[in-house]
Amino acid sequence: MKSSLAQHIRAIEDYPKAGITFRDITPLLADGEAFGHTITHLAERYAEQGITRIVGIEARGFIFATALAYAMGVGFVPLRKPGKLPAKTISKSYQLEYGDDALEMHVDALSATDKVVIIDDLLATGGTVLAGIELIEQAGAELHECAFIITLNDLPGVQRLNDAAIPYYTLCEF
Ligand code: IMP
Repeated sequence: MKSSLAQHIRAIEDYPKAGITFRDITPLLADGEAFGHTITHLAERYAEQGITRIVGIEARGFIFATALAYAMGVGFVPLRKPGKLPAKTISKSYQLEYGDDALEMHVDALSATDKVVIIDDLLATGGTVLAGIELIEQAGAELHECAFIITLNDLPGVQRLNDAAIPYYTLCEF
């Protein structure tokens, strides 16, 4: 299943700027069978592990996280860009190539009794998911694993997760 998934990922050259190859998941989403297999595969992987919540990162992570949470019959927790969540939040900023960004989570979204999987569409430098993991840890919840549809192996995210001994799983590597 993992090996056949790559054919549903489209490479867009020079997006969002010259020299960048953007990995586009929309063909995977548009193929009902491939999208369904992706979610079923992840749901089987995380079944009977005591997972209580699936945490998704705005915006493409939401697509996979909500489908997975529904398939597993557990709750979904959104990590959002600043200013989007209505109640009291905790926040973690992280570095982008130019400037900073941040992720926020409702302060009461997770507790020490939660065991979670965090999911995003793609791992590149790792800054985004590491900020998300920090929020999960601040809430006192247990991180079971990070899951990605795609990892980019020539960027530092994989090494940063390995160095921090953070377990992760990926469906597709470029
Ligand atoms: P990182 O923080 O550098 O690991 O970047 C990962 C984040 O950037 C994820 O939330 C992705 O959605 C987004 N991202 C970076 N490059 C791509 C790409 O080629 N395709 C889709 N999303 C990307």
